[in-house]
Formats: sequence, structure tokens, C-alpha cells
Amino acid sequence: MPTILEPSVTAIEFAAQAMREGRAVAFPTETVYGLGALTLDPRGIAEIYRLKWRPSNNPLIAHVLDARGARQVVDSWDPRCDELASRLWPGPLTLVLPKRSLVPDAAVGGRATIAVRSPSHPVARRLLEALGGAAVSAPSANRSGHVSPTQARHVAEDFASEEDLVILDGGRSELGLESTVVDLTGPRPVLLRPGTVTLEALQEILGDVEAPVIDEQGASPGTAARHYAPRTPAALIPVGGVRAGLAAEQRPCAVLCFDTAHVASPHTAIAMPRDARLYASALYDALRSADGLGCAKIVVESPPSSDGLWRAVVDRLRRATA
Ligand code: AMP
Ligand code: MG
Repeated sequence: MPTILEPSVTAIEFAAQAMREGRAVAFPTETVYGLGALTLDPRGIAEIYRLKWRPSNNPLIAHVLDARGARQVVDSWDPRCDELASRLWPGPLTLVLPKRSLVPDAAVGGRATIAVRSPSHPVARRLLEALGGAAVSAPSANRSGHVSPTQARHVAEDFASEEDLVILDGGRSELGLESTVVDLTGPRPVLLRPGTVTLEALQEILGDVEAPVIDEQGASPGTAARHYAPRTPAALIPVGGVRAGLAAEQRPCAVLCFDTAHVASPHTAIAMPRDARLYASALYDALRSADGLGCAKIVVESPPSSDGLWRAVVDRLRRATA
């Protein structure tokens, strides 16, 4: 098993030193846990892809302390970026911009652009500070395609066979969903991934923002590739449709729903919060728990809305059940 460390001064320095030596380390952020290495060190970047079984053309998000840190890896930082950074950083917002030439191609999946974000989690920030503010590229600390980790033990479970991996324990990730990603490489900003910074919040700052159309069932099907997924087959059912959805199910199901009264034996209910923020924070833990029940199927009741923060929740549910 990997080693989980309480984030003492010594542990943070140990993790920083591992990164300086070209290794990858798992650490907490307010969104999900990340598996990070120095953006400018191709050894560490290669280690991330190897550990995650991640396709090498899938780009990584670089984590920085602030706008100054971002400017070390991005080109053409503009007034829109200053506005976004001053209002929403540190926080769950990732900006995609042209990369500087010193960033290795491997760190961006071969693209001409780089994604950057400034995390607010104190342990992530202490780690970045220990590295002198150098950028740390970190995808979510799970095996490729699996549910993102929101606790240190989730990381340990996914990488159970990796004896050398160090995981800094920062408790539960408060937000529980991956960051909002917005592409600023063109004249019109494009929402690439919804998150806890909502489309509405971005529109208030940027004006016009292009976003995929969402129907009541979630993101447009073409964009909802299977991802963030539990191992058990999962299906989304309409809000209020739990009783009807289970009527034809003979095999035991794990049911993520708002009202557990509609779930009877042989099924197992997992109660989900009606508040979007609480739901987002609980979702990945619930999917992992559901996976652990050994049921034939996971059934998820759709959220009541796809606006605001629910947009990100619905996007992840669509991917988990695609
Ligand atoms: P993860 O770090 O696993 O949460 O995933 C990173 C997310 O950021 C994915 O949705 C990527 O497609 C997106 N991303 C990272 N870098 C870029 C980039 N250079 N251009 C566009 N999207 C990016
Ligand atoms: Mg991921």
C-alpha cells in the first residue's frame, strides 16, 4: 500500500523533495485529491502518466500559488485573466491559455496550450510554497477513468499496489468535484468542464461564455464520454422516478436518491442531500460506497435541476452512467 502522511512540516518537505527528485506525490485540494509532479520536470510528468494509466495525449492541469505563478507557464495572460484570478483564485477555476515554450510537451499532452489553477487547500498551498512557487501538474489521483478521490484513503485504494507512493492527508476535499475549466485561447471564452464556479458566475465576469447545451437529463450526449465512473454499471433515472425505476429490477441495486422511503429490499439506499453544494461534496464518496456494496447495478436519481452548481453534478452523473 502507499504511505499516507499527516501534513506536518516534515511530511510537506518530504513530499517537496520527492518532487524535486522527479517523482509524483498525491496531495489534497479543495476539489479532489491530485497526483502531482513538477510541471517543468519530464521525469515526474512521465511518472504521473505511468501511475494513472492515463493516455499520454490527455493534458494535465498545472497548479500554482497565484497569477504570478501562472505567468511562469502561460503566454498571453490578459486582463480577463487578471479579473478572473483576482475574483476567483485561489479556488476551483482552471484557465486554458497558450503555454510558454519552456513547458515540456509531455506536461500538456502535446498541445500548444496549458491549463492553470490556484488551489485554496492549505496543504496544497504549503506544498507549492515549499517548492518555491514552482508549478505542479496534477490530474486527479485515481486510475484513469475511475471516480475521483475526495479522501486520502480513496487514493490509497486506487493505487494499492504502489508501495512507493506518498499521499499527504488533508481530510475530505470540501467541494468534491473537479474544477471548472474555461478555455480563453479564443476571443470567446468556452466552458470546457462545469464545476463549482458556475457558468452564471463566469458570465457575470466575462460576459458571453460558450457552453454545451444541457437538457433535463444533463450534458449533450456527445460530450458525455464515460468517465469519473464507478466499476459497477450505473444508470440515471428521472427525479421522483425511483419506485418506478426499481419496479423491474430483480437484482440488488445500490440507489443514490433523495428519499430513501422509495427503496425496499433487496435494494440498498444511499441518501443524497437536496442541497447542490452538499450533493457535490458527497457524490464521489457515495459512488465509491455504492461500488463497495457489490450490487449488480447502481441507480442514481437525477437532480431536480441542471442550473447553477447542479450543472456540474449532472455532467458528472452523465459521465458516470454513460
Ligand atoms: P483532471 O486533471 O483529470 O481533472 O482533468 C483535466 C481536465 O482539464 C480535462 O478535462 C482536460 O481535458 C482539461 N485540460 C487540461 N489541460 C488542457 C488544455 N491544455 N486544453 C484543454 N483542456 C485541458
Ligand atoms: Mg481526472
